[in-house]
Amino acid sequence: MGNYMIKQPFTIKSQVTIPDHLIKEVQSKFAYVDEYIANATILPDGNTIELELRSEINKQEKNNLEEKIQRVVLSMVKGAYQPKVEILEDYLDKQVPYQSDPNIELLKRQEISQETPGVFTLGPLVTRLIEYFETRFVELADSFAAQPYRFPILIPARYLQRVNYFRAFPHSLSFATHLREDLDTIDHFSQHAGCDAHGNLTAAPDSFSPIQNLLSPAVCYHLYFALADQSLPEGKMIVTAVGNCFRYEAINLTSLERLWNFTMREVIFIGNKDFVLENREIARQRMQKVFQELELAYRVESANDPFFIGEFRKQAAFQSAFQLKFEIRASLPFKNSTLAVGSYNYHQDFFGRHLNISLPDGSPAHTGCVAFGLERMAYAFLAQYGFDPNQWPLCMKGLI
Ligand code: AMP
Ligand code: ZN
Repeated sequence: MGNYMIKQPFTIKSQVTIPDHLIKEVQSKFAYVDEYIANATILPDGNTIELELRSEINKQEKNNLEEKIQRVVLSMVKGAYQPKVEILEDYLDKQVPYQSDPNIELLKRQEISQETPGVFTLGPLVTRLIEYFETRFVELADSFAAQPYRFPILIPARYLQRVNYFRAFPHSLSFATHLREDLDTIDHFSQHAGCDAHGNLTAAPDSFSPIQNLLSPAVCYHLYFALADQSLPEGKMIVTAVGNCFRYEAINLTSLERLWNFTMREVIFIGNKDFVLENREIARQRMQKVFQELELAYRVESANDPFFIGEFRKQAAFQSAFQLKFEIRASLPFKNSTLAVGSYNYHQDFFGRHLNISLPDGSPAHTGCVAFGLERMAYAFLAQYGFDPNQWPLCMKGLI
């Protein structure tokens, strides 16, 4: 058994058939199943899973990996039903001038430069595009007279725990720590710390302080945390902020499509149920006009968050049953697929209850947000309109 080694790509037959609507969702979770996995693809039959490995494994390790794959599939597929996808806007068929893969041109022009998987430095063209889209999102915020806020990048573990974040999204967390306040530890670190051939920092794990903070995964959470254990005197609030977000996506981190570190502009509504739902709807209608002007090929459809395996089935069904999330999915012509560039979200009174934020009548506040991914917006735009500003929509003339 010991010298039975496998590195060649191999296939696994799933015990249950993965329905079409879950293939992408299940496949994205394989990234977190085993560190040996370099690539995992579910074939369209919904039964065959193709795996590529990083290094050789023995039979025992292979069995172990296979068992974990089967476990993920079973947990996500058994008892799942296909949610009815509701489409609120459909402009996917809009003709756009560019059909090529924008990554080739982005790399050639040194507009993107990867620091580490999922972390990019962006050049002047992408930056200008992001700044332009930002002005359009800020216009939306201004149309609601939203109050501007600035939120930190770090977020306390104790708050994330209060809103069940560890249970829902453990796979994508990013942690922050620092050296312990101890002279010997710091001296030792300053003299010996370095990086090995894999880029791993070579320092003793006990040099680091216990983890109390993480890198923030979303923007609006900071506002809810700031309001925790308070009553809203006016009973409602509209706020806007832009911020860095971190979601670790392992081998799913590809180009600007899926980043570890990205930026999001949000407009956040807090109040009673009607206030939040009405404003979410008004925001969607106002953005519909903006996306028309931008001549974007896109669709707005119901969606769910990428909950982790154990939570996925129940939570995704809940979100879809109550229409809690709609995504703006822009076309990526070069791969004949779509990418979420933003979302319209309603959290019901989830944050109000868990963080004890109350309305003047004592009931828990409802919350909602509209969120735009800035890098994805620029990326989807370039994928549809390319790099020649003469081909760009009228409203963007003179931008470059
Ligand atoms: P969400 O709160 O998950 O709906 O995220 C809001 C928006 O942020 C999405 O529609 C994307 O545009 C963007 N976004 C979310 N995750 C990522 C990621 N890993 N990389 C780049 N952009 C992202
Ligand atoms: Zn939000």
